[in-house]
Amino acid sequence: MPTFVPLLSKEQIDRLPERAREVVEYRKSGLSLNHIQGCPLDCAYCIRHTYGLWDQDQPRALMTDAEAVEQLVSHRYFQPHVTPVQLFNRATEPFLPKVRPHTFAVLEDLDERELTNHVLVITRHQMKPDDIDRLNRLRYLKVTLLFTYSGIDNKDWRPLVPGLNDSSEHLATAYELSRQADATVFTGLFYRDEIAEYYKANGLPEPYGGTARRKIVPETLEQRVLAAFAGSASLFRKTSCAVSYVHGLPDYNGHYGIQELCDICPLSQVELCQGAHRVPTANQLRDTARVLPEAGGLIVVDITDRAAVVSGLAREQPRYYLQHALGFQVHDVRHPHHANRHGRADIGWKDTPTDE
Ligand code: SF4
Repeated sequence: MPTFVPLLSKEQIDRLPERAREVVEYRKSGLSLNHIQGCPLDCAYCIRHTYGLWDQDQPRALMTDAEAVEQLVSHRYFQPHVTPVQLFNRATEPFLPKVRPHTFAVLEDLDERELTNHVLVITRHQMKPDDIDRLNRLRYLKVTLLFTYSGIDNKDWRPLVPGLNDSSEHLATAYELSRQADATVFTGLFYRDEIAEYYKANGLPEPYGGTARRKIVPETLEQRVLAAFAGSASLFRKTSCAVSYVHGLPDYNGHYGIQELCDICPLSQVELCQGAHRVPTANQLRDTARVLPEAGGLIVVDITDRAAVVSGLAREQPRYYLQHALGFQVHDVRHPHHANRHGRADIGWKDTPTDE
């Protein structure tokens, strides 16, 4: 019999940090379901740092799986067959032995509803043959499993951090491993203030002098990754691109407009994305936003082939909703994207012209 995690009482839930109580939350790659929180793995980069949940080292449930699925599919941001979903990507590890039955319960419930949404499951745990069989029985959902390789054996770090896991040997091993996967994404570290504090408090060498809200991949490191993966036909800069590619679909985040992302993409995939690329009108943007009360102040600042630039949204979540509803990049005027940096932080990049 699988063991399930304990269910928190209402009083215990009320004592959680506010953001931890937000069980359904739009994050960049999709609508994220997190009714189980807590993890015994001490990944130094864990996003739990930013939610006031770092000390929660045992998984706990805030509600039943059935309630959580109901909350997800009835959420105003959820669009059947459209919205990409991420499961347990914020506060726990979906294939911890105790969390695993919940992961399957959620996936099977969504699948029984005949939903065809993408569901991304990111894990650094082991998969068993039984897990694979069970996943293969799902009929409708487009499930993608994302495994991570850090190359660092004394600390469980996953992203590329210069000086820690970017030697030629690391990159060669990453390339060898990538041959087992349908697609590979390379990414940097979300090095935010909370994570920087943790590095300092634990005597870890600080990889960067500043913190930034986007992931960090210095330019020279990107060039070395591309060289190491020169033999790969399925390397991507964006998770959504890799996920879409393995399902034979155009990128659901509409990155095609940001053309410099696509120069490493297989030609057949470029054609797929090109065929699906639709630049919305300002009216379409406003119409799409109309269902969201928090998007009432939306102002369309500019629309180009690359992206729509908007202002007036207090939070990032409605912007992600618009992006997925339209399959087109929607940027906030307060956070300009720079050409060739691929939505990544400025740290480690020489000045390059900007056109967004
Ligand atoms: S063509 Fe561009 S947007 Fe489409 S999957 Fe490839 S890299 Fe991503």
